Amino acid sequence: MSGKRRVTLIPGDGIGPEVTDAAVRVVAAAGAAIEWERLDAGQAVFEETGTPLPDAVIDSIRANRIALKGPVGTPIGSGFRSVNVTLRQALDLYACVRPVRSSPGVPTPFENVDLVIVRENTEGLYSGLEHRVTEGVVESLKVVTEKASLRIARYAFELAAREGRRTVTAVHKANIMKLSDGLFLDCVRSVAADYPGIELREAIIDACAMQLVRRPESFDVLVMDNLYGDILSDLCAGLVGGLGVTPGSNVGDECSVFEAVHGSAPDIAGKGRANPAAVIRSAAMLCAEIGETDAARRIEAAVDAAFADPANHPGDLGGSATTETFTEAVLAGL
Ligand code: ATP
Repeated sequence: MSGKRRVTLIPGDGIGPEVTDAAVRVVAAAGAAIEWERLDAGQAVFEETGTPLPDAVIDSIRANRIALKGPVGTPIGSGFRSVNVTLRQALDLYACVRPVRSSPGVPTPFENVDLVIVRENTEGLYSGLEHRVTEGVVESLKVVTEKASLRIARYAFELAAREGRRTVTAVHKANIMKLSDGLFLDCVRSVAADYPGIELREAIIDACAMQLVRRPESFDVLVMDNLYGDILSDLCAGLVGGLGVTPGSNVGDECSVFEAVHGSAPDIAGKGRANPAAVIRSAAMLCAEIGETDAARRIEAAVDAAFADPANHPGDLGGSATTETFTEAVLAGL
C-alpha cells in the first residue's frame, strides 16, 4: 500500500488534457497524497472503441468513489444523448455544486461575490422524455419528484450549515409551473424547517437572474432544478471572470466527480491558451473532500496569488499568459 488515495482521472476532450495535466502537477506540488488512475472518455476513446463512455470509466469511479474529470463531448452517432448526463445518472450524482467567488486580481464589475449554486442533477427537463404528439407538435416532459427535491434541498441546507452560510434561496417558477415547481418549492420549505438558523428565501427564476446581475453579493446558497441550474451556473461564472475560473463538482451519496463548468473549448484546444484555473480549483475542492484540507487551502491561495498579477492572466481574462505560464505561477506560489 502506498498510503495514497486513488482517484480516477479523466482528461477528456479538447482543452481537457491540457488543463487536467496542469491540475495534476499543482496537486502534486501541494503535497496531496493522491495516486491517479487515468481513464479515457469522449471523442478519442469513441474512435478507438466505438463508445465514448466505456464501462471501465464508471467502474473505476465506483471503486475509487472520486474522480477529477476534464470536459467530455458527446460524439455524433455515438448513441449517447449526452455522456455527461449519462455519467451523472449512472452514478446517481444528484447534486451539482458550483461555488462562485470573486478572485482578487480578476477584473469584474463585482468584488464580493461568494455564492454556491446547488443544482438538481438527475431529473427536470433533463429527463430525456420527449416525443412527437403529432406533426408539428412535440412534448418534452419535466419530471419533478418529491424524493429528488427533498434530497437536493437537504444537500443545500447541509452545505449551508457546514460552511456557516446564512441563507438558502430556492429558485423556481412555481407561479407558472404550479405543480412541478410547486412540488419542488414545497420540498425545500419542508427541509428548511429543520434548519432554523438558516434563512430560506424564495426567488422566481427571472427576477433572480436580474438580481444576480445587480446585487450578486446578496446571495449565499441557491438551490434549483436542473435547467435553471445549468443557465444560472454560466451566468454566475460570468460574474466572477467567466468559465475559465469557475470550478464545480457532481456529488452523490456514493461518489463525487469534480469538474470545471466549462466545456471542451474546441476553438482553443491544443494551442496552450486555455485557462486551467477552473480545473485546478476543482482539484482543490477534490482535495478538501478527501481530507487533504491543507493542500486544498494552499492551492486556492496560490491560484488567487497568480491572478493578483495581470501578467499571469490567460486570454479569456484579456491577458496573454499561456496555460503553462499560469500553471508555473501557481506552482511558484506553492
Ligand atoms: P461544450 O459543448 O463542450 O460545453 P461549448 O463550446 O458550448 O462546449 P465551452 O467549451 O465551455 O462551451 O466554450 C465556450 C467558450 O468559452 C469558448 O469560446 C471557449 O474557448 C471559452 N472557454 C471555455 N473554457 C475556457 C478555458 N478554460 N480557458 C479559456 N477559454 C475557455
